[in-house]
Amino acid sequence: MKFQCDVLVVGGGVAGVPAAVASVRAGADTLLVEKRAFPGGIGVAGLHRTLCGLYPLGGASGPASSESLVNGGLVREICDRLAILSPARRPIRLGKVEVLPYLPDQLRIVYMDLIQAEKRLRVLFGTEIQGARLEAGRIQSVSAGEAGEIHAERVIDCSGDGVIIGCHPSLYDSVPAAERQLAGLVLQFAGMAGTDDVLPIKVPYAIRQGVESGALPSWLRFTTFSPGEGRDEGYCKVSVPSGTTNQEAGQAVSRLHDYLREVLPAFRAARLVNRSPEVLEREGIRLKGGYTLTEADILASRRFPDAVARSAWPIELWDPERGPTYRYPESGGVCDIPLGCLKAAAASNLFCAGRCISATHEALAATRVMGTCMALGEAAGREAGRM
Ligand SMILES: Cc1cc2nc3c(=O)[nH]c(=O)nc-3n(C[C@H](O)[C@H](O)[C@H](O)COP(=O)(O)OP(=O)(O)OC[C@H]3O[C@@H](n4cnc5c(N)ncnc54)[C@H](O)[C@@H]3O)c2cc1C
Repeated sequence: MKFQCDVLVVGGGVAGVPAAVASVRAGADTLLVEKRAFPGGIGVAGLHRTLCGLYPLGGASGPASSESLVNGGLVREICDRLAILSPARRPIRLGKVEVLPYLPDQLRIVYMDLIQAEKRLRVLFGTEIQGARLEAGRIQSVSAGEAGEIHAERVIDCSGDGVIIGCHPSLYDSVPAAERQLAGLVLQFAGMAGTDDVLPIKVPYAIRQGVESGALPSWLRFTTFSPGEGRDEGYCKVSVPSGTTNQEAGQAVSRLHDYLREVLPAFRAARLVNRSPEVLEREGIRLKGGYTLTEADILASRRFPDAVARSAWPIELWDPERGPTYRYPESGGVCDIPLGCLKAAAASNLFCAGRCISATHEALAATRVMGTCMALGEAAGREAGRM
């Protein structure tokens, strides 16, 4: 089958849905292709519980709210719709940052509502893009395997993994897998014997002892724990090296579960009731764009005349050796993201949004959070949709 459209959005995740909605609202005949059966990507499947990058860092006067969002437009629409579904969930302060707690299933509902409200938006769920053909400085066609071939005037890569930019070395940059930020896996436990404020300290401590004694693989040492909604529920965010296979991660998860049951009374009857379906990468390949956002830009809260979105998160680098480190901008705490970070330098009709934009390894550690990815998606959709 052959598909034709003005704008093809690859990936209906955190960035992809705002991209498709913005594109169709700009008047473009838009096709969104998502390999899963539902929208929302990592924001839904990853079992995350807080939207980061929505509010200014330390600069807001008063508590964060819909009015203090650093990106308006669809980001505000998404937050407002989440607030209708869960009025009691308000922004919370975690140290120097403010985040919005949310339920993954509600983000899925909000994203599905946004899609369904755009009657002219065409969507293919359960369809995996296989690759693309770059010729004469343009993406000429995109392959959806047995589903067919897609010819689009403009393509936006929102796959997170860079499935389109990965089709040609002139389109992307990367660091070796061993130097990439740690990947992760989220585990949800139920049946715990009461969680308390001390458990977020006890769990990582116990895991470090397990690593030191050789009972657990060394890469589990940066695992964190947070209590869940109910008193018998909790979440472990397990860190694994980038490139870890789902099978390797699965084996480590079973060992971790057995170990926690053995050493911590709170986990004695704990059941693993849910986990992110695959290893979640923080960093993969990144677009080679007209401009590459840098660590210096983030730390200086730099302004750009052609800004299309704003980043408001510290450089949260999950280093394979040192674990998470946080570096905060000296002033302001809000950095512009120029259009050049979203537009390919080597393909005139290719855009990128989400966690594979044109940014250095360090700058990506700030821009990859969901609040920013939503705004990047909207910006890419708006630009591609009105060309
Ligand atoms: C362990 C971990 C914890 C995190 N915690 C938080 C947090 O608490 N708060 C926060 O704000 N951010 C957090 N992040 C960051 C954030 O989740 C991601 O960076 C962000 O979701 C990326 O958005 P995206 O749209 O680029 O990718 P995604 O949301 O993953 O969307 C990509 C979409 O593309 C689809 N896709 C991929 N390949 C194809 C293909 N070939 N064909 C068709 N569709 C395809 C996928 O199915 C998916 O739906 C965390 C990241 C990790 C790894």
